[in-house]
Amino acid sequence: MAEVILKNICKSYDNGFNAVKNVNINIEDKEFVVLVGPSGCGKSTTLRMIAGLEDISDGELYIGDKLVNDIDPKDRDIAMVFQNYALYPHLSVYDNMAFALKLRKMPKDEINKKVKEAAKILDLDHLLDRKPKALSGGQRQRVALGRAIVRNPKVFLMDEPLSNLDAKLRTAMRTEITKLHKSLGTTFIYVTHDQVEAMTMADRIVVMKDGIVQQIDTPQDIYDSPNNMFVAGFIGAPQMNFIDVKLVEKDGEIYAQNDALSIKLNAGDCGALTSNGYIGKEVVLGIRPEDIHIEDIFVDNSLDSTFEANVELGELMGAEIYAYLKAGNHNITARFDGRYKLNIGDKLKLAMDKHRIHIFDKETQLAIR
Ligand code: ATP
Repeated sequence: MAEVILKNICKSYDNGFNAVKNVNINIEDKEFVVLVGPSGCGKSTTLRMIAGLEDISDGELYIGDKLVNDIDPKDRDIAMVFQNYALYPHLSVYDNMAFALKLRKMPKDEINKKVKEAAKILDLDHLLDRKPKALSGGQRQRVALGRAIVRNPKVFLMDEPLSNLDAKLRTAMRTEITKLHKSLGTTFIYVTHDQVEAMTMADRIVVMKDGIVQQIDTPQDIYDSPNNMFVAGFIGAPQMNFIDVKLVEKDGEIYAQNDALSIKLNAGDCGALTSNGYIGKEVVLGIRPEDIHIEDIFVDNSLDSTFEANVELGELMGAEIYAYLKAGNHNITARFDGRYKLNIGDKLKLAMDKHRIHIFDKETQLAIR
């Protein structure tokens, strides 16, 4: 079993800076967990503490059922893959992959078997004699993965392993790593600042900010039900619109209103708003660009969630077009089918998908549910 448990883990650097604050994560055996967040949020520090490359200031770290706070990195049964691959330039692909096994004094034929197996999984069989400088970025990254695979670790740790690759290769390697996880059946812990990597690869995502875990959930739940405005804005591109509104009660219904909008909220979403005393208060309405539709082609009953907005800019992305809009004083971004022709200055009649509206407390920025 290779579950990894972080219990109240903290990291204070020598200069007194608290980079990781009271982090609790239970990573299950064979799970693929992605730590994601903006630069400086503490995700690499957290991974380095799991690897044993950084001391844990406070808290307990378990790998399997063993407390490993004071266990050497080499005895933790983990393998780490770094952003810069960290290959030995003077060694062939074969010797790079065999290096750790030779250090362990493993018999030669066993080393040979393990390297060949890993090379086959990673499609490196024909490159085993090459030096790293004669490889493409993607191939180098595969060698770095191969070096980790041969060690047969309980846990794979990866720190931004794809960030030196171009966009096309990144997408291809993303799929490779996901497949690798499935075929190896090992616990993976992966750090990235890229929300697309997090969404596409993870069984569960840990979103971090300022050393604090903001939410731990499946990609779908993070996207559908973000805990707060930070998570809502970090996951999804273009990012969720945040619109200041006031909640008003009229004839037993609740409306989100401002100078440009009057949106009747879904009855099912209103219980928490009423019981927590938000009626008559200013709140933030969150709506993703993909949940704003051109009204006359919107399928659901949209009569009470329509609003008008002027097109300020259209950005054609191919399959879709990003529309940068203005409704009163509010900037709103929407995402339409790319076949829709937008002209600057057009006045559009739009509708929000009411089932996809989020309401946040203006001060705490927490989702009101
Ligand atoms: P990035 O994506 O930029 O790598 P990150 O989320 O991985 O960011 P960390 O590398 O974990 O961030 O760093 C977290 C915070 O700790 C940052 O503010 C960083 O400046 C700080 N930090 C990292 N190493 C040290 C150190 N040795 N001494 C003091 N502060 C440090």
